[in-house]
Amino acid sequence: METLVVDHPLVAHKLTTLRDVRTDSPTFRRLADELVTLLAYEATRDVRVTDVTVDTPLAPASGVRLARPAPLVVPILRAGLGMLDGMTRLLPTAEVGFLGMIRDESTLQAQTYATRLPEDLSGRQCYVLDPMLATGGTLAAAVNFLFDRGARDVTAICLLAAPEGVAYLDEAFRGGDRPIRVVTAALDERLNENGYIVPGLGDAGDRLYGVV
Ligand code: URA
Repeated sequence: METLVVDHPLVAHKLTTLRDVRTDSPTFRRLADELVTLLAYEATRDVRVTDVTVDTPLAPASGVRLARPAPLVVPILRAGLGMLDGMTRLLPTAEVGFLGMIRDESTLQAQTYATRLPEDLSGRQCYVLDPMLATGGTLAAAVNFLFDRGARDVTAICLLAAPEGVAYLDEAFRGGDRPIRVVTAALDERLNENGYIVPGLGDAGDRLYGVV
């Protein structure tokens, strides 16, 4: 598995404010949105394109367009929704599917409670949006779900990752027949006993949307 920690001062700047406990929800939502767009720029470096020629006012010019089938963006509900606009701003022609997953706080196991995805993902490049790569259980389940439907490769975009989660995915997808990449703004120190990333930014869903 490939892990890319995006090293850019604007990424670090926005992430620092996201982490700050004093940052309110409206500011958190705006910064998460901006940060995802920066991460998406790196995450889409391998997006498939086809060669085309267009006519400029002066002469033909060769270029590229995004290949078909269109990439599929999959936010993991609930917190991944806060990353969707930032992603589709960069990839407006992508299709969007939804995966509702919840972590059982006692077992830390992921359970799927909602899916709205094409049945057949053959040949599709998929971009999964999940702000926090903590234990890796939720993300591994989501990625396997997409590969089971035929996805060609999967890139996960996470605001933050824990070393434990990266190691879990690395082990789960060793072998290379299910190619996966993780793109993140930072690799933090560790998980605490409740499965939260330390120093992290707290509960991403709560910080985006408030506590429900
Ligand atoms: N989910 C969160 O929202 N935050 C964490 O630190 C870990 C999982």
